[in-house]
Amino acid sequence: MTHNINHLAIVVPNLDEALHFWRDALGLNLARTEENPDEKVNIAFVEAGSSHIELLQPTDPESGIARYMEKRGAGMHHVCIEVEDIEATMQRLREHNIELINDTPKTRPTDQIRYAFIHPRSTNGVLVELYELP
Ligand code: ZN
Repeated sequence: MTHNINHLAIVVPNLDEALHFWRDALGLNLARTEENPDEKVNIAFVEAGSSHIELLQPTDPESGIARYMEKRGAGMHHVCIEVEDIEATMQRLREHNIELINDTPKTRPTDQIRYAFIHPRSTNGVLVELYELP
């Protein structure tokens, strides 16, 4: 099976300024924008081939992503890999002593995508997200 990169996520202080680079200057298409009140971010998805660049702007200084930006600055936040069976993948990771952030997959209400995060302690510092597409 393939494990496509579904998206790369970048934390930015301001979506309009980020789109000034990605869309206006570099010329990538803006696919859509959305609010995620659970994670307290506004998101813009720009197209990069069959993948997306996900620009995350925190909307609440107390949110996890805002604290991340406070601590580490704007920049790369996570890479998302598509898997066929997220539970089997998580089980396999556990068997390899890889630390997961989520015990069980979460489901995005908008599109039923199931997702989970792997701890950067187990991945040389890169937060990795898994997607199981519906
Ligand atoms: Zn993501």
